[in-house]
Amino acid sequence: MCGADPIPSNANGHSNGASNGDCAVNGQNGTNNDLSGQASHPKPTTPVVNPYAPIHDALSNVSSYKLIESTLREGEQFASAFFDTETKIKIAKALDEFGVDYIELTSPAASEQSRKDCEAICKLGLKAKILTHVRCHMDDARLAVETGVDGLDVVIGTSSILREHSHGKDMEYIIKTAVEVINYVKSKGLEVRFSSEDSFRSDLVDLLYLYKAVDKAGVHRVGIADTVGCATPRQVYDLIRTLRGVVSCDIETHFHNDTGCCIANAYCALEAGATHVDVSVLGIGERNGITPLGGLLARMAVSAPEYTKKKYKLHMLKEIEDMVAEAVAINTPFNNPITGFCAFTHKAGIHAKAILNNPSTYEILDPSDFGMTRYVHFASRLTGWNAVKTRVAQLGLTMTDEQVKTVTAKIKALADIRPIAIDDADSIIRGFHLHLQDQHQVQSETTTAAPAAENGTENGNGTVAAQ
Ligand SMILES: [Zn+2]
Repeated sequence: MCGADPIPSNANGHSNGASNGDCAVNGQNGTNNDLSGQASHPKPTTPVVNPYAPIHDALSNVSSYKLIESTLREGEQFASAFFDTETKIKIAKALDEFGVDYIELTSPAASEQSRKDCEAICKLGLKAKILTHVRCHMDDARLAVETGVDGLDVVIGTSSILREHSHGKDMEYIIKTAVEVINYVKSKGLEVRFSSEDSFRSDLVDLLYLYKAVDKAGVHRVGIADTVGCATPRQVYDLIRTLRGVVSCDIETHFHNDTGCCIANAYCALEAGATHVDVSVLGIGERNGITPLGGLLARMAVSAPEYTKKKYKLHMLKEIEDMVAEAVAINTPFNNPITGFCAFTHKAGIHAKAILNNPSTYEILDPSDFGMTRYVHFASRLTGWNAVKTRVAQLGLTMTDEQVKTVTAKIKALADIRPIAIDDADSIIRGFHLHLQDQHQVQSETTTAAPAAENGTENGNGTVAAQ
């Protein structure tokens, strides 16, 4: 069974699929125990326009976005996170193979071990560029440059509340220090991003003035950070679009999820002209975290399928999420896009019928793009005879449509009384099939011989399942 799946023992149907030796949700199966319908969405025979693609806009980067993966920086700020060196290296290698553009690490100024880990990851020779996230301070910048990173993500709080209660510096000081740090990092041949913290509660005029100054100083990216998770998609769009008209460098974005808007905000930022999005595996980070890698890619696989599927090894997503979930001792949430245990499970009879005919009817994402498997739930009172018919065939049994309808009624009758599992439904199907065979045998004997002693009907009422 798939041990990594946090499936409750009474998750009827689904959990049983796993206990039978197959896990219908993890892409490992392929035997006849899942009710998955067609393997993938049918390919159109003629080119079609993606109806979910963004509206054409020259400034939009929806089809050319870059990911800054911050599990090893933002994710390290998650409540239960502790990554030892070995785990950090394992995660960094997996993310690199997955295809992320950048891997962001905790500041080497945070601790001696953080500095050593930063050096160790820089020596791995990964394709992804290695960044570290440092305060806007020359001491931190010098320490970071010595670790061998490809770039520095420099940050400072700009909202009045942070200026007053955190570092206590005014805007002129911030600009002067920022330009000094940027010039230093660039003189070492490294990339540099300058970001405000708490951007959406910062004064817009201050913010634009600051970003114009660092853009002029030659910064590679400016960053907009919704540090407290307060922004709405519309506010994001407006701010990024305004900023796009003020700076010529790339624009990185960072969205916390306190109010549940992190994926939508990231998407809107790209639409407005942002170039980079910060993500972490499962969204882990400070408080309830940031834009999740998998959740954003679910969005992007719909809006920019060609770019997304070509660039990222999407079938590695579950493996990476499981790795990180285990490292920080959490389960993948049931409603996680793509890898949540019910992300591709269809239950209602009317859905099941359509899905079995054509999965596109009720799926915007194709599970096979992510190495996942569709599952049509048939062990419930909402099931329909089309789903049961498919199950009958998978069990290697033969029944007429009328007989399938009869056995479907039996399954629904039991499921009206209590939750049932796949085993229960299978037992009803098998019991009913046995009953049909017995009836058939009795009829044969009646026609070929004289009436004899009554025989073999004791097993035929399907109640075997009601134990
Ligand atoms: Zn953050």
